[in-house]
Amino acid sequence: MNIILFGPPGAGKGTQAAAICQRASVPHVATGDIFRRNLREGTPLGQLARGYMDRGELVPDSVVCDLVTDRLGQPDAQGGVLLDGFPRTVVQAALLSKWLDENGRKIDVVVNLRVPDDVLVKRLSGRRTCLACGATYHVDYNPPSTPGVCDVCGKADVVQRDDDREETVLARLSTYHRDTAAVLPWLQERVGVVDVDATRSIDDVGAAVLAALA
Ligand code: ADP
Ligand code: AMP
Repeated sequence: MNIILFGPPGAGKGTQAAAICQRASVPHVATGDIFRRNLREGTPLGQLARGYMDRGELVPDSVVCDLVTDRLGQPDAQGGVLLDGFPRTVVQAALLSKWLDENGRKIDVVVNLRVPDDVLVKRLSGRRTCLACGATYHVDYNPPSTPGVCDVCGKADVVQRDDDREETVLARLSTYHRDTAAVLPWLQERVGVVDVDATRSIDDVGAAVLAALA
């Protein structure tokens, strides 16, 4: 099953991903996580992505699409994937759809997490991320049991992402409205989109997302 988990930055995609992947038995493919891993490892891809990420802009379509189609070709992705943070432009959506067609695969379901901007700003500026394993927390809504220490992997690496500082958060939201929001009607027309009110609690949103997959 190929699932697109869609929504603006801060909507809760990463928070819900593990439960969806477990339910659908597919790997989690989050383009932002892949870029952050490359940044940490100092690879050429990470160096290329850094400036765009720091400015809250999108990495060029050709770079992201090559990365994703390469990932979709790997053995563990043959039964499907959960795409998180991709596609983010209509060009990316069209290239994904073409690649899936050519490979006898398709997008099975699109779930859109809907959250207004004022809530997104609060979520992103309070988000804390484990640099070791990528797990996310929130200082008020979902803090780790011990401050700064990850409940998932146990490392004391839970910090604020550079691009979660307020000025970059605002830039990322305007990038979303300028470049990414248009992907939604594109997907709606071709695949259909299940809308989820993601302003509710983490558990309630999780239940609604799993119901959408059933
Ligand atoms: P995304 O992956 O869509 O950018 P995250 O899953 O990282 O978003 O969530 C952004 C922030 O909001 C995190 O700090 C997370 O703990 C918090 N969060 C996620 N879902 C909810 C929710 N339903 N209610 C309150 N806070 C949430
Ligand atoms: P995220 O973790 O999904 O919020 O992504 C963090 C950053 O990585 C974004 O602000 C972009 O700079 C970059 N990025 C992630 N996914 C994409 C994508 N599909 N297209 C372009 N840039 C991306």
